[in-house]
Amino acid sequence: MTSYSEPNQYECDNCGYKSDEEDFPEAKDLHMRLTPGGIATTRECPDDDCGALAFPVNNLRVQYRRLLQIERTTEDFFRNAVTRLQEDER
Ligand SMILES: [Zn+2]
Repeated sequence: MTSYSEPNQYECDNCGYKSDEEDFPEAKDLHMRLTPGGIATTRECPDDDCGALAFPVNNLRVQYRRLLQIERTTEDFFRNAVTRLQEDER
């Protein structure tokens, strides 16, 4: 069992700080910060310099979005590799 699958773990969307739910304070001005159709949360980062919204680690949509980012990064990597190969052939 990894900590990744424990319930009520939250992770900061900005700096990546991850801890139990009680370590994250209630988010201020939530109604102004949540985007329609976005992931719902009630917590924000405890770091004064950060203060970004934090989301439940086990939230499927969070994990889905993370996968999309990985996919995009991988796609960029291969596209750059192909471009480099084509330049080498010239
Ligand atoms: Zn943070």
